[in-house]
Amino acid sequence: MIVVKFGGTSVGDAEAIERTAEIVKGRLDRQPAVVVSALGGATNSLLAIGEQSAKGHLIGALRGVETLRDRHFQQCEILLGTSGEASDVAAEMSASFDELASLAEALSVLGHATPRSFDAIAAFGEQLSSHLVAAFFKLRDIPAVHVEARDVFVTDDNFMSAEPQTDAIAEAARGIVQPLIQEGKVPVMGGFIGRTTRGVTTTLGRGGSDYSASLLGAALHAEAIEIWTDVDGMLTADPRVVKGSKLIEQIRFDEASELASFGAKVLHPSTIAPAVRLGIPVFIYNSRNPKGKGTRITFDAPRRAVSAIAGKGGITVVKVGAAKMLFARGFLRRVFEIFEKNGISVDVVATSEVSVSVTVDEPSQLESLVVELSQLGDVSVERDRAIVAVVGAAISEDTASMGRAIGALDGIKVHMMSLSATGINLTMIVDGDQLNPVMGRLHDAFFGRGTK
Ligand code: ADP
Ligand code: ASP
Ligand code: MG
Repeated sequence: MIVVKFGGTSVGDAEAIERTAEIVKGRLDRQPAVVVSALGGATNSLLAIGEQSAKGHLIGALRGVETLRDRHFQQCEILLGTSGEASDVAAEMSASFDELASLAEALSVLGHATPRSFDAIAAFGEQLSSHLVAAFFKLRDIPAVHVEARDVFVTDDNFMSAEPQTDAIAEAARGIVQPLIQEGKVPVMGGFIGRTTRGVTTTLGRGGSDYSASLLGAALHAEAIEIWTDVDGMLTADPRVVKGSKLIEQIRFDEASELASFGAKVLHPSTIAPAVRLGIPVFIYNSRNPKGKGTRITFDAPRRAVSAIAGKGGITVVKVGAAKMLFARGFLRRVFEIFEKNGISVDVVATSEVSVSVTVDEPSQLESLVVELSQLGDVSVERDRAIVAVVGAAISEDTASMGRAIGALDGIKVHMMSLSATGINLTMIVDGDQLNPVMGRLHDAFFGRGTK
C-alpha cells in the first residue's frame, strides 16, 4: 500500500479536489490510503476565530465562522451537487459549524483560550475537508471510506504540538485502516489531528499533515509516502524567496530532514523520522503538475556537497558570557540543563572561551530562562535574527563549497556560524532583514543566477 497526502492548496477548492481524485484514481492498484489537510487557509482562519473569541471579539469571530461555513458549503455544492452524499456531508458540516460557533461563544465568555481550546478549534479544518473529499471520491467511483483520524492518531496531551504515540497508532492503523485496504477500499482521513488516550482532541503542530502521512505509512509499512503539494518537489531554495530555484530529483533523508528543520516548509520537520526507521521512500509531487518528476527522498540519493539552501526568520540568540566561569568544568552542562528545565529547545550552538551562544525558535518563554542563566554569567538576548542553512551531505569534505559560502557573505554581518558534527549543514545567523538577500546570494553562489 501507499500513503497519499494532499496539502491545503491541493484541496483548496473544487477544482483542486477534482485533480486529487484523478491522482488517486491513477493509483488504485497500489492500494492508497489518503490523508488530507484542511482547505488551504482554513487552519489560519480557525485559529484567528479562536484568538478573536478569546479577546472577547465575538462578532468578529462569528463572522469568521460564517465566512468559513459559506466557503465549505459552496465547495460542497460544486463538488457534490444534489447527490445522496451531498445531504449527509451538508448535515455533518452544519453540525460542525454550529459546534464551532458555540465554542467561539464559550471562549469569548471566558475571555481566554488555552492550547487545548485552540486544538479543538483547529481540528475542524481537517474534519470538514476529509468528509468532503471522501464523499467526492465516492461520486468519482473511488471506493472511499471516511476514517475518523482521531481514532488512529493517538498522541500525548502536549496541545498544539502533540507527540504521537507510535505503538498505539500502529495498533489503531492495523485495526481500522488496514482491513479497509484489504477489502479494496480507499480510506480517507484528515491529517494534523489526533486524540489523547482520554479522548481529548490534539494537533501535531502547524504543517502536521505531512507527519500524519508518514506516521500512517510507518504504521502500515507502506511502500511509499507521497506528499502532494503546490510546488514541483523539494527545490534548491524556497521558490517564494529565490527565483530560479531548481528541482532536486533525489535527495537523502538526512538532507531533507535538515532542510525541513531549517525552514523548508514543503515538509514538516518530523515527517522524515518515521519513514527513515523503515526505509520507506518519501516522494514530493505537485498536484497541479501530476506528470512532473517530483522529488524522491531516500537513503541512496547522491551525496552532493550542497543540495539546497533553507532559512527561517524569527530566531532569538541567547548569549551567556561567563568570565567568572571561564574554563570552569561543567559550565556548558549547566547552561544546557537550564534550557532543558525550561523546555526550550536549541537549534544552533557556538562557543568561545568566554561565551556560549545558542539560537532558539520560541522567544515567548525566555524570562525564567534568562533569570536562571544570569546566575552563570552575563546574559544577552538578541531578537529578530534569521538562520540560513547550506545543506549538503558532503559539504565539509568539499573545500571549495565552504569558501564559496563564506565568499557569498561578503559585507553581511554574521552573528554566529556553525558546521554540524556530521558535516551536513553550515548554518549562519544573520539579521532578520538579511534573510532573503542572503538566501539569494548563497543560491547564486551554488546554483547560479536568478535572485528575486
Ligand atoms: P501544503 O499545504 O501542500 O502542505 P506548504 O505550504 O506547507 O504546502 O509547503 C509548500 C511550500 O513550501 C511551497 O509553496 C514553498 O513556498 C515552500 N518551500 C519552502 N522551501 C522549499 C523548498 N526548498 N522546496 C520547495 N518548497 C519550499
Ligand atoms: N492544516 C494544518 C495547517 O495548516 C496542517 C497541514 O496543513 O499540514 O497547519
Ligand atoms: Mg505543509
